[in-house]
Amino acid sequence: RIDARDIRKSFGDNTVLKGISFTVPRGTATTIIGPSGSGKTTLLRSLNALDIPDAGVVRIGDVEADFSGKVPRDQLRDYRAQSGMVFQSHNLFPHKTVLENVTEGPLIVQRRPADQVRAEAVELLGRVGLADKHDQYPSQLSGGQQQRVGIARALALQPKVVLFDEPTSALDPELVGEVLSVIRDLAVEGWTLIIVTHEIQFARQVSDQVLFTDRGVILERGTPAEVIDDPKEERTRQFLERIL
Ligand code: ATP
Repeated sequence: RIDARDIRKSFGDNTVLKGISFTVPRGTATTIIGPSGSGKTTLLRSLNALDIPDAGVVRIGDVEADFSGKVPRDQLRDYRAQSGMVFQSHNLFPHKTVLENVTEGPLIVQRRPADQVRAEAVELLGRVGLADKHDQYPSQLSGGQQQRVGIARALALQPKVVLFDEPTSALDPELVGEVLSVIRDLAVEGWTLIIVTHEIQFARQVSDQVLFTDRGVILERGTPAEVIDDPKEERTRQFLERIL
């Protein structure tokens, strides 16, 4: 389970996150929707401590980071290892094969045994539908396949939660479905997921909880039936009308 309390983040005098608090129970999927610039990406990067929040306390599983003070290096490393991130575009290593891209983190960062890491990577690549692509290079794959390697790579690090930052926004429309379908499978399998997305129908299907962010706060939260089908706030309604 993830508990985020009062996360704040500014860039210079631009206050992007103005006190964000939420809980994600283990084995559930939360989607974050909201207008461009409302702070969704910054929130994910803060959860992963790619951006260090100015304040706030986040607990992921047993590991807590209190960003109101300086988090010691070792603790920060520990904290970061709790989550895996899937970016808008995959950031794969171009000179490594698909299999090497997936095994790199567990071998180099986690120093886990090669046989075990390889077996897990093979299994993960099967799960994302790329069993026949182990020895290909990223440039030989479609955007959707590359993004699925990115997902397998994040899962290989055995995170407690997987964070997705608009995982389909850089894809050609015909490739969106295959990536969403992999994420849907992960939700069914009981992974804990936090997903920033503009794909509202997908959010409706996959989410246990939807957070609507606006101008640095969570303006509305609830089930998809509450937030997407029956929004209480005028700004949520306006956003959904624009996007649907
Ligand atoms: P989008 O849907 O367009 O991706 P978003 O809701 O994810 O938008 P963010 O990317 O989190 O929004 O950006 C929120 C604000 O933070 C923007 O005003 C942006 O310019 C600012 N911002 C984000 N990252 C940085 C940074 N590294 N340095 C300075 N400003 C930043």
